[in-house]
Amino acid sequence: MPPTLEELIAEDHPARLVAAFVDGLDRAAWLELGVAPDGEPLGAPEYHPRALLSVWLYGFMTGTRSTRKLEAACRDTVPYLWLTGWQHPDHNTLWRFYEEHRKSMRHLFKRTVRLAVKMGLIDLAIQAVDGTKVAANASKGRTHAVAELQEMLERTEEAIRDLEAQNSAGEGPAPVHLPVELRRKEELCRKVKEAIKQLETEDGQKEINLTDGDASFMKSRQGIIVGYNAQVMVSPVKSEQTKEKGFIITAAEVVTDPDDHAQLATMMEAAEEMTGAKAGMTLADGGYHSGPNLLECAKRGQVVTMPEAQRRALEKPYHKDRFVYNQEKESYMCPQGHVLTFVGERQRGRAELPVRIYRGEGAECQGCPAFGTCTSDKRHGRELEISPHEEALRAHRAWMATKEAKAAYKQRKELPEPVFGILKEQRGARRFLLRGQANVRAEWLTLTTAFNLRSLWRFWRRGHVTLPLLGMSNNAKQSAERVAGFFVQQPPARSTASAAASA
Ligand code: SF4
Repeated sequence: MPPTLEELIAEDHPARLVAAFVDGLDRAAWLELGVAPDGEPLGAPEYHPRALLSVWLYGFMTGTRSTRKLEAACRDTVPYLWLTGWQHPDHNTLWRFYEEHRKSMRHLFKRTVRLAVKMGLIDLAIQAVDGTKVAANASKGRTHAVAELQEMLERTEEAIRDLEAQNSAGEGPAPVHLPVELRRKEELCRKVKEAIKQLETEDGQKEINLTDGDASFMKSRQGIIVGYNAQVMVSPVKSEQTKEKGFIITAAEVVTDPDDHAQLATMMEAAEEMTGAKAGMTLADGGYHSGPNLLECAKRGQVVTMPEAQRRALEKPYHKDRFVYNQEKESYMCPQGHVLTFVGERQRGRAELPVRIYRGEGAECQGCPAFGTCTSDKRHGRELEISPHEEALRAHRAWMATKEAKAAYKQRKELPEPVFGILKEQRGARRFLLRGQANVRAEWLTLTTAFNLRSLWRFWRRGHVTLPLLGMSNNAKQSAERVAGFFVQQPPARSTASAAASA
């Protein structure tokens, strides 16, 4: 007898964990995904949602993200045949399912994180945040400023007028459909008008990509790309038994701002919501360092360990940190013993924060041996700008000087960097396949959900996590029941009135 599918799938195969995870989803989880758990009102779906969701998750887990490749895999690849119960959903069916439910991927992602917490794989003593630039599904050459778009619009409108004149000059009857070239030009015209409107309404946006209007220019290791800033918060998984290391992504987001500054508090909040607890310490690189971020972390009562972008400036002998504040006299004393007094406030930065200004005496500074190093302003002498975040900045500098902070910060590179490496090199996440921020966010969340499933699988196969915890055991009988269940038609949910009418 030929072997059965069940025999071909090893007992610790990743497809089994995907199946266990999907089968373990309760009624609430399916409702969160937007799938009717009691059957569709107009009859049962052709393919069971469990089969379709398993295909998507297993595909993202193994680096297959295109619907056509997934369709091919459902026809000839054993794990897919096992997951679908030997059904062959085509790319349209797979796409329709994903398109309808991808916006709810955040709920599924949260379930993987909560599962890791429940199983004690992560203890939240430490977490690290980082961002990576991922290319959009768009060409750099399609990014334009308003002036270029106006020019393009004029050229396209003129081309449309020419084509219309050519069409009307012919002797035959008018064509039933618009000629292809004319249709293309009209579509381009519509896109350009929309892009101009968006640039005029969006504050601060100067350029726009005609293929993906949400993508923006980003500086990456590969040079300037048109793409997105994809963020993750990562917690380490450590197994005491095997000393094996792993990672669980506890928060994922995609933003259009290439700058990481604004993401620290958002990512910390998201990680807390996903895990249900605050992490003991958050590690971040200098790109997240800012006074407002430190103040926010202090308010949240969370320790953050990150270097300052201006570390070299801190080493200078006349950095403002070397000036001593006197609260009673509302003044600062410089390293040479001279006093800088408060002279007023001024607005600073995009947020127009009020900063306090302290000045020395021009004559005193001119006669000081540090003149030229500390300041070269002969008239006013040295000036200090003290922001409302100064206290938080100084407290953080003191923390970063401790041995504990230095030792903790060494772990930062071991956390998000390998995660990005795996996502980009093994799962092909160098470029998004979808367009638009909402779609790209859903794609990133599916990638990170699949990443977490892979991590759970690694620990499950070594016996550190048991499948019953995921809602299913891995014996053959239950797997066979699962597959058989795909062919059982769900009774359509009928209203009492329609049931009475048919009776
Ligand atoms: S230059 Fe002025 S502020 Fe700077 S150390 Fe000398 S006296 Fe003090």
